[in-house]
Amino acid sequence: MKEQLLQHPVFKMAAEQFDRSADFLGLTEDVRERCKWPKRLITVTIPVKRDSGETEVFFGYRVQHHLSRGPVKGGLRFHPNVDIGEVAALAMWMNWKCALMGLPFGGGKGGVTCDPRTMSPHELENVTRRFASEMLPFIGPEVDVMAPDMGTNEQTMAWITDVYSTHAGHLVPGIVTGKPVILQGSEGRTAATGHGVAFLAARALKRIGVKHDRATAVVQGFGNVGSHAARTLESYSINVIAVSDVSGAIHNADGLDIETLMQYVKDTGSVKDFPGSESIDPESILTMECDVLMPCALERVITEKNAADLKCKVLAEGANGPTTPNADAIIEKRDDIFLIPDILCNAGGVTVSYFEWVQNLQRFQWSEQEVLSKLDTMLAQAFDKVVNYAKWNKLPNRVAALSLGIKEVADVKSQRGLYP
Ligand code: NAD
Repeated sequence: MKEQLLQHPVFKMAAEQFDRSADFLGLTEDVRERCKWPKRLITVTIPVKRDSGETEVFFGYRVQHHLSRGPVKGGLRFHPNVDIGEVAALAMWMNWKCALMGLPFGGGKGGVTCDPRTMSPHELENVTRRFASEMLPFIGPEVDVMAPDMGTNEQTMAWITDVYSTHAGHLVPGIVTGKPVILQGSEGRTAATGHGVAFLAARALKRIGVKHDRATAVVQGFGNVGSHAARTLESYSINVIAVSDVSGAIHNADGLDIETLMQYVKDTGSVKDFPGSESIDPESILTMECDVLMPCALERVITEKNAADLKCKVLAEGANGPTTPNADAIIEKRDDIFLIPDILCNAGGVTVSYFEWVQNLQRFQWSEQEVLSKLDTMLAQAFDKVVNYAKWNKLPNRVAALSLGIKEVADVKSQRGLYP
């Protein structure tokens, strides 16, 4: 299985990043092996009746990287390319992210190989409910708590809550996070990841001496993370000059009106042909001149092919794993880009998920203001911790962030010892 996982390009990348930090930390072979490999890799089949009347069998996955520090926490992705290797890599990154943020969770991730854009709401509901029921033996508020990711949203989480609660015989709101507020979701959760990405990008700009009202930003991916990141940037007077989604890319040198664009995407399903913008080549978006570049879509979009051509001052990784280790090497050599690594940059989502889980356990609702101010405080602390650790140890920001997270997990594993 180890070899099989290492053959997967995304898992291989997560493993290489882990090895680099483990070398820096000088982890013993025993702790290193226990930290690196996932505790549980679960694959299920999901037979579902399509609207046509035919039955189709989908594959679903859940990887629980480790449970040493608490329940696993991580998103559920619906995408045609999802497979066990990708899910295992994402679960590993979640681990280090939760530990870096000081949250009492291990890392988890799930996915169903399907294309939600070609499925009706009824079919999506059937896939979600059957996946949730197949997962019943493996999840619970103290074991594994899912959240939305690519292709899923708060409606998906509401269906999972319903399946789990129906089986429990009572409402169990702590089974997922990212639920609708009416179902005891948290205020501020939907915007949290994107808000955090923009908050940290603004902090990085300040650190390198770029004034917000003169700054420009480019965002790849205009889904949950990208759109809310763009909206928060706009609220800081940072001009978002280009965005893209799976259908294309748009540009306006004077800045796009993000609120109107969000409504446009809601109405039409994509950013394409947004009035007042020109269409540009989606490939070119990553190498546009700007102060902040935010990849907020897929993994491995910044590679050895385009890393030398980036023209941003801050690279704020909203997506998980957007930059390959080869691209990292080029960026480190250039030394003119301030990188906010994914496990720090998009940690706003899991942090507010933690707040939601705590509120659910307490049966208590916090206000949006309370949530966002707690979030900003925790993100600012984590940002400073990573930047200072990087400086003291002469490390790139990514290695610093990963090392801080991995060390936390390694220390807990060492302290707990090996059973039996
Ligand atoms: P989403 O499904 O809401 O949005 C994804 C966006 O990416 C869409 O606009 C889609 O059109 C676009 N996209 C897809 N393929 C593209 C391509 N080839 N080129 C350009 N755009 C493309 O997903 P999301 O929840 O916003 O997640 C985006 C990323 O952020 C993922 O890597 C996810 O793991 C990560 N993330 C999400 C959260 C969260 O709370 N949702 C938290 C942490 C990290």
